[in-house]
Amino acid sequence: MGRDAQRMNILAGRIVAETIKTTLGPRGMDKMLVDSMGDVVITNDGATILKEMDIAHPAAKMIVEVAKTQDDEVGDGTTTAVVIAGELLKKAEELLEQNVHSTVIASGYKIAAEEAQNIMENIATNIDLDDEQMLTKVANTAMTGKGAEKAQDTLGKLAVAAVKQVVEKVNGNWEVDLDNIKIEKKIGGSVEDSTLINGIIVDKERVHSGMPERVKDARIALVATAMEVKETETDAEIRISDPDMLQKFIEQEETMLQRMVEKIKSVGANVVFCQKGIDDLAQHYLAKEGILAVRRVKKSDMKALARATNARVATKIEDLSESDLGKAGIVEERRIAGDEMIFVEDCEDPKSVSLLLRGGTEHFIDSVERALDDAIGVVASVIEDGTVVAGGGAIDMEIARRLGEVADRYSGREQLAIKAFADSLEIIPRTLAENAGLDPIDLLVNLRSRHESDGTNIGLDVFEGKPVDMFEEGILEPLRIKEQAVKSASEAAIMILRIDDVIAASDLGKGAAMGGGGMPDMGGGGMPGMGM
Ligand code: ADP
Ligand code: MG
Repeated sequence: MGRDAQRMNILAGRIVAETIKTTLGPRGMDKMLVDSMGDVVITNDGATILKEMDIAHPAAKMIVEVAKTQDDEVGDGTTTAVVIAGELLKKAEELLEQNVHSTVIASGYKIAAEEAQNIMENIATNIDLDDEQMLTKVANTAMTGKGAEKAQDTLGKLAVAAVKQVVEKVNGNWEVDLDNIKIEKKIGGSVEDSTLINGIIVDKERVHSGMPERVKDARIALVATAMEVKETETDAEIRISDPDMLQKFIEQEETMLQRMVEKIKSVGANVVFCQKGIDDLAQHYLAKEGILAVRRVKKSDMKALARATNARVATKIEDLSESDLGKAGIVEERRIAGDEMIFVEDCEDPKSVSLLLRGGTEHFIDSVERALDDAIGVVASVIEDGTVVAGGGAIDMEIARRLGEVADRYSGREQLAIKAFADSLEIIPRTLAENAGLDPIDLLVNLRSRHESDGTNIGLDVFEGKPVDMFEEGILEPLRIKEQAVKSASEAAIMILRIDDVIAASDLGKGAAMGGGGMPDMGGGGMPGMGM
């Protein structure tokens, strides 16, 4: 109850933040996650760590939720968001010790959070969709420290190319649906062998060895139903009294399958992707016609194929028409690391693409995938919004400075809270310095004075250990990462501060505010019931 409940909640939230703090930045440490079965994941990706961590305390879970929202909304900046939330709680605790009421802290934080958004929008720099150099820098910044340095150039370019390929203009705005970029991992080779396919890879093989392995100028039919003779729904019994009848019966089934294949041939298809099964006999007929067919293709792959080849998925074979067919320069079965895969390539402006990721070991390829995921996320954010900010603690330092000026416009305890919020943001450069084994006190003093004298983009070069212009250094992040991080961190801190009682409830069930230990979908990053 009261102060005790508050103290416990703040502590729990701070512990989560402390745990992942050491992973922040390119020189952050890794965590080894071990489950009860002894399976191991080594990563410094905040989202992954928090997703896998076994957390029971309700307030700690709220902080984990901050990370989840951040990951869903931007795909990067999870550690940043959680570390800021932890520092906001720490500073709030100090104010509570000075008898500042939590309501006052909450309202000060709320003002500061809103002001911070305005400040960020003022600082942000606009960049163009075609500025591939800038986009690659943003991708590289997201990947540093994720164990993929060796191949950063390759991966950065792949991420930019993939996103640019699938971006679409919707109601006058650029939009990227990340579902349209599919990553296929295959162990073997090296990361530099990773490629962007100008089309889709389907992790399947041809159904029949008599079919061609390679089809040029492919005309592709996508079929959602089985190419089999339907079993009747009800149990029916057919009595056959003479051998002729049996023969007729079999022939009729054969004819049905033959007709399906004829239909496919008649519309001009030379490749078929079927979402369900293909009967042996149908396979035989297809092979005889020289048609390459693949069965049991995942629904998501069917969708991707449709977008990449500009085809329409037919729900009935009878309804298939020439205009439903998709096009690809080449469809080919290739052997990659001992497995057959179907490559649908040379598509004309495919709006869905696959990335083939290679790497020596499973652990390595998984960490490369996480890095690439972050890179794709940030490039998409920048293309959609067209804005970047300086990383390496530069933006955080600048918001802190300008918020300090805003605080002067307020008086009394509210001013204290706004100042505390401003100071909290310095946790980012401070942690980057700490994690790099640098002296945070000296560096922060230095950074602060550079920002006082108009050094908006001065951040910390963690490798050289000195303040530099982050734009010159190419350490850039999407504005959206910071906006979302500050937003969700402050919302969570405020929410925790406003709780003065933790009550054991019998069964809150689904639909209750904290049902099932998590929070309901927070939609656009806002939390319900905040009264904000
Ligand atoms: P998050 O989960 O928050 O994305 P990261 O471990 O990816 O955490 O670290 C992101 C932070 O590291 C950002 O503040 C970013 O600006 C900073 N950063 C990335 N690359 C560099 C670099 N080369 N030098 C300094 N800071 C960097
Ligand atoms: Mg990151």
